[in-house]
Amino acid sequence: DAPLLEVKNLETAFDIDGKYYNAVDGVSFKVNRRQVLGVVGESGCGKSVMSLSIMKLLPKGIGKIGNGEVVFEGRNLENLSEREMNKVRGKDISMIFQEPMTSLNPVFTVGFQVQEALFNHMKISKKEARMKSIALLKSVGISRPEKIVDEYPHQLSGGMRQRVMIAISIACQPKLLIADEPTTALDVTVQAQILELLKEIQEVNDMSIILITHDLGVVAEMCDEVVVMYAGRIVERTDVETLFYNPKHPYTELLMGAIPKLDEEVEELSSIKGIVPSLKNMPEVGCRFANRCPKAMPECMEITPKLAETDKGHEVACLLYESSKPAEGMNV
Ligand code: SF4
Ligand code: MG
Repeated sequence: DAPLLEVKNLETAFDIDGKYYNAVDGVSFKVNRRQVLGVVGESGCGKSVMSLSIMKLLPKGIGKIGNGEVVFEGRNLENLSEREMNKVRGKDISMIFQEPMTSLNPVFTVGFQVQEALFNHMKISKKEARMKSIALLKSVGISRPEKIVDEYPHQLSGGMRQRVMIAISIACQPKLLIADEPTTALDVTVQAQILELLKEIQEVNDMSIILITHDLGVVAEMCDEVVVMYAGRIVERTDVETLFYNPKHPYTELLMGAIPKLDEEVEELSSIKGIVPSLKNMPEVGCRFANRCPKAMPECMEITPKLAETDKGHEVACLLYESSKPAEGMNV
């Protein structure tokens, strides 16, 4: 089976003071049909930029795709016009964000906004759209949808608003949902409910999900495969069991040690010492994790590790593994 989505050597650059820096730097991965792929890493590792790149929603004039391909069902999205891309968004690929960042418009009713999503891609009457939106609200676990459909976002709780956003995102039954920290802003009980809902929708609709999160508990709960990103690059990729039982990259190992306890509010993965280098201060060669890595060796400052298989289906970019060492003269 051909993958649903294939990202090949994606480079996304951001303009900082007139100079471009790669926030995503040569990222490649696949998403199969019905698969939930987790993308983990701290803030500032390029996870969100990567997903905005797939959707071609980078801030105009600031971010641009410098290189690479995003192939969805055999079509390179990079070649699509804005008009063609509008047909893909919401219909083939949808996106949801962290709750406070969701784009529910305060001046329109919930029903109006669900219906908008339907009208974007379907020719249906107003009456049908209203009925469909009530059914959608019901399908995301909103009780009394006939009432909620006429309410405004501020009348709903954060968890309810996120349910509405999910209803909007699945209105046209996309094949791929990109969920960027969808539960981060919600309290723990609501988080669990929303994740359960996403899992249920994924199964019922045969949908694939790219789930972006800094929360490894969420990964364990939801994902089949995982990519770990650090400073714009993928440093490890494997299935979820292997990631938890046999992590190989020192960054992943530290992330594992930083799993927050369920009853603790932990903001980011703050227990790893140091910070992700900023785009402007990214080392030109060597491992980008070297300044924080407890296992760093002198060569880590000089040689850039390449992402390569250590075992079947397990890729790592770290010089502790022979497979990551570049061939002579190939250091980039
Ligand atoms: Fe640590 Fe070196 Fe591996 Fe980077 S390449 S993760 S610095 S051991
Ligand atoms: Mg982010």
